[in-house]
Amino acid sequence: MAGSFNQFSFGGQTTQSKPTIGNISPITFEMLSPDRVKDFRLQLFSQLQTTLDVEQLVSIFFRHLKQYLPISGVQYVNGDKMIDTQIGHMAKHRAQYQLTMKNVEYGDISFTRGKRFSEKELTFIESVMDVIIFPLRNAIKYRDALATAMIDPLTGMNNRGAMSITLTREIERARRHDDQNVSIIMIDVDHFKMINDRYGHLSGDDILRQIAHLIQQSIRGSDACFRYGGEEFLICVSNSNLALARTVAERVRGLISEQVRLPDRAKPVTASFGIAHYNGESDWPDLVARADKALYAAKQKGRNCVVSSMETNVPVNSL
Ligand code: GH3
Ligand code: MG
Ligand code: MG
Repeated sequence: MAGSFNQFSFGGQTTQSKPTIGNISPITFEMLSPDRVKDFRLQLFSQLQTTLDVEQLVSIFFRHLKQYLPISGVQYVNGDKMIDTQIGHMAKHRAQYQLTMKNVEYGDISFTRGKRFSEKELTFIESVMDVIIFPLRNAIKYRDALATAMIDPLTGMNNRGAMSITLTREIERARRHDDQNVSIIMIDVDHFKMINDRYGHLSGDDILRQIAHLIQQSIRGSDACFRYGGEEFLICVSNSNLALARTVAERVRGLISEQVRLPDRAKPVTASFGIAHYNGESDWPDLVARADKALYAAKQKGRNCVVSSMETNVPVNSL
């Protein structure tokens, strides 16, 4: 295989007694014939082909190695991709390897336990290490592709696909914890069709990028924002209440009208805002429908304003 690994460090040379379960000594790697090691590698490789999830890969690797080698945990760290996965528990001694393939680094994997590893054990680990490199590389590529698919290319903001994942998680959290409610803010640019018609589609695109940038700049790290559709955006405010959501919405509304400019600066660009706070919904589209209703009311009220769903009694089917 083209994969390689560089060992950085490992814990010492002490030999260890074989652990026993009752009266039965477990099979250790030392009892494996070269053919059995080959079988083990094949079996491990085919198991690793069953998933593209990094955590599951590390878990499969851990489970398989543990059959023949007493280890308490495995950790995989890839700083570039912000991955830090630990399976089992971390202990004092570790054998750590850097995974590389065709000069590309794929992070570090380490094996850990309370006792030092012997030379023979390290040789065994090294003899199976290359098996995980290909599946890990594929899982990382898949992860990158998924991340790209979640980004709106025009604004660089997370898209509706990402929004669905975030809101599903937030609703689930709000349902389980009374004190972790979520609010959402729907934003729709006012008279955007006229902007496109008067200044051209490219200027319209530029306005959308400016607004996306302002929204991203003005939310907390724990909150999230998305491009919902054409000239519509959505902010998800975690651990929120209506007052906090309104403050965020008012801040963004003010920033847009003060800072986003048409090419000829003829007049301010504005947006309307609809807020909904979690109220026992079982699914996010119900929450979005309430925010949408509030947004409709903001448009009716004259635009460039914030309306919360508490203030609206517009039935959805009358819209
Ligand atoms: P309102 O104040 O009621 O929201 O009016 P509006 O003109 O903003 O609303 P309308 O839904 O009539 O128009 C939205 C426009 O947004 C129409 C569509 O062509 C434009 N649009 C959607 N996506 C994009 C995009 O990616 N770039 C540009 N430039 N325009 C877009
Ligand atoms: Mg719209
Ligand atoms: Mg609009």
